[in-house]
Amino acid sequence: MEKISALVKRRGFMYPGSDLYGGLANTYDYGPMGAELLRNIRDLWWTEFIQKRGDIVGLDASLISHHKIWVASGHVASFADAMVDCKNCKLRVRADHLIEDVLEKNVEGTTVEELDKIIQDNKMLCPNCKKHEWTKVRKFNLLFPVQLGIVEGEQGYGYLRGETAQGIFINFKNVVDSTRVRLPFGMAQLGKSFRNEITPGKSVFRTVEFEQGEIEYFFNPQNQNWEVLFEQWKKAMWEFVVGKLEINQQNLRWRTHGDKERSFYSKRTEDLEYNFPFGFKELWGLAYRTDYDLRQHIQYSGKDLHITDPITNEKIIPHVIEPAVGINRILLMILCDGYTEENNRIYLRITPKLAPFKAAVFPLVANKEDLVDKAKSVYDELKVHFMIAWDDRGNIGKRYASQDEIGTPFCITIDYQTLENNSVTVRFRDTGEQKRINISEIKDYLHKALV
Ligand code: ATP
Repeated sequence: MEKISALVKRRGFMYPGSDLYGGLANTYDYGPMGAELLRNIRDLWWTEFIQKRGDIVGLDASLISHHKIWVASGHVASFADAMVDCKNCKLRVRADHLIEDVLEKNVEGTTVEELDKIIQDNKMLCPNCKKHEWTKVRKFNLLFPVQLGIVEGEQGYGYLRGETAQGIFINFKNVVDSTRVRLPFGMAQLGKSFRNEITPGKSVFRTVEFEQGEIEYFFNPQNQNWEVLFEQWKKAMWEFVVGKLEINQQNLRWRTHGDKERSFYSKRTEDLEYNFPFGFKELWGLAYRTDYDLRQHIQYSGKDLHITDPITNEKIIPHVIEPAVGINRILLMILCDGYTEENNRIYLRITPKLAPFKAAVFPLVANKEDLVDKAKSVYDELKVHFMIAWDDRGNIGKRYASQDEIGTPFCITIDYQTLENNSVTVRFRDTGEQKRINISEIKDYLHKALV
C-alpha cells in the first residue's frame, strides 16, 4: 500500500485533502490523473447500467436534503458507528475495526456492550501508543447536519446525504409520474455521499466524502422471483468488474452477511469483496431491501407511493434489490490491481478504456522544429477524439517511465523516418515492445483498443 500511495501522489492521482493548511483528516483531493480515472469509471458505470440496459433510468438528486428523509430512513436513529478512545494518546478508532484488525474476526452487528467486553477481555492495546487505557465504547452518528439560511428551526434543517439511495426513494413517484417507466425498472444515481467516519488511513478506501453508484431495482414480488433477480444482479456486477474493469478474478470473492450483520429490513445481503493490500474488503454491496424504504416514506410523508402493476393492474408498493458501489473504492481497486513491478520497471496495468491518457505523443527530440511540428499535428488530430498526453522533456526512456506509471497504454514517437514515410513508433506499456504503424491507422487502432 505504501508503494501505491507514493505513486499516486508522485504522479498526480490524489493528494491529502487541504494539504496546504496541514491537511483535513479523511479527505482527499484528486489530481489530474485521478480526476480522469474517476471520470472514466463513472462513464463506464453509466454506460453499462443505464445507457445499454434500457430498463434503468438516471437521477441526480440534491446533496442537501430535508432532515425528515433521514428520520424516515432510520439513519437519524441508527446510522452510527461504535467508537472507542485511547485515554492516553487520544486516538479515536472504530471499535469493530480495532477488533477486526487485531483478532481477525468479523464483528459486524455486535452490540456496544459486546464490543466493550471483547476489548477488555482480550486486553487489547492501542495501535498508536500500545497502552490498554480505553474509554467505554460509544455510538457516534455519521450524518452531517446542515443549517440553511439565517432562520434557525425545522424548515432550514437538513443533512448532507449519507447515501444516494434515499434520493431515489423520495423521487420514485416523481419519476413514475413524469416518465414512461414500467415495472420492473431501476433508478440509478451517481454522486457524492457524506459520512462522518473515523477512518484508519487506508487511502481513499474510507473517507468522509465519497462517491456512490447506487441502483434501486423496483419489481413486484408477486410476479417476479426475487432470488432469480438477485442472482442476475450478482452476475451483472461480476461481469462489470471482471469483464469491463478487467480485475483479476483471484482477487474477488462474494461474502454473504449473516443474520446478525444484515440490516433488519434486508432479506439477503451479499458483498462483492476485493483483496486490497490490507485484506478482502467490501467493494460493492447487493441487498434485497424489500419495500422497507418506500413504506417508511409513505408513513413519514403521509403521501401515497403505490403504483399500478402493468400485469395485474393492482396497486402495489414495489420491492427493491439494491446494488451499491463506491466509485472511489473502484478507483483504489484499479490502482492496486494494476500496480506492477517487473524488470526494474513500474507500470499500471489498467485496461486502456480506463487509463487517464489513451496514448502519449512525443517528438524524438525537442530541438528539431520539423519533428516537433509533425508530432504536434499528430497530437492535435488525436486529442479531438481521445485524452492524449504530450511530452517533449528529457530523454525517451524517462518519458516512457512516467507514462508507464500513469498507465498510458501506448506511446507514439515521431522520428526522422516519420518525415519520410508517415510511419510512427508505437510502444506498448505492458510488454515494452515497439511496432511501426502509419499515422492514418492510429485513430482506428486506438478505437479498437478501447472497447
Ligand atoms: P462499509 O461496511 O465498508 O462501511 P457500507 O456497508 O456502510 O460500507 P453501503 O452503505 O452499502 O456501505 O454503501 C455502498 C458502497 O459505498 C460500499 O460498498 C462502498 O463501496 C462505498 N462506501 C461506503 N462508505 C464509504 C466511505 N466512507 N468511503 C468510501 N466509500 C464508501
